Amino acid sequence: MSKNEKPEFRRVSVDPNQRGIKKKLSMVQSFAVALASRGISNNKINTPVKQLRVLSCFGNEPQGGILPPCEYLLESETGEGMHYCGACGCGDKKTTWLTQHADEYSKLDYPKVACTLQMPGFTNYVVSTPDEAEEPVTRKYYIENLDYKEVQKTPVTIGMQPIPEENKEEEPKTKE
Ligand code: SF4
Repeated sequence: MSKNEKPEFRRVSVDPNQRGIKKKLSMVQSFAVALASRGISNNKINTPVKQLRVLSCFGNEPQGGILPPCEYLLESETGEGMHYCGACGCGDKKTTWLTQHADEYSKLDYPKVACTLQMPGFTNYVVSTPDEAEEPVTRKYYIENLDYKEVQKTPVTIGMQPIPEENKEEEPKTKE
């Protein structure tokens, strides 16, 4: 560059969505971000968080919605009606089933649990990127923009058994 040439800089769009920044977080996003940043120190998860997790994994078709289950959700071959996450590599075991009978403790009951896709409700949640809003939208974007009243319709039970002592500090294994 000669002495009189001015350096060039890339122009920056005035639209925050074009800069990879969202203007304003949706209610579900704000809630999920707050939960993820707060971390959870209780021994058990609470209902609103579990509702988000169940939506992330199972969708809301059984409640009359249009959100299908996560593409990584797999049916257990050993537990009738049970499901496990095929993305995290934990396998099909009683301890890794995502939901359980009401009196038992399931993976989604853990205070801290991460999701490979970093979906809402999980400890490692990350908000969707602007391109996820383009049709066809991603499941994450769809959940983030659901009316919170719809999230509250998700039926959940919290495992009744106390969390196993050896698992209290454990964050179930996932790949990120
Ligand atoms: S990738 Fe995440 S949302 Fe999908 S089944 Fe696994 S834990 Fe659930």
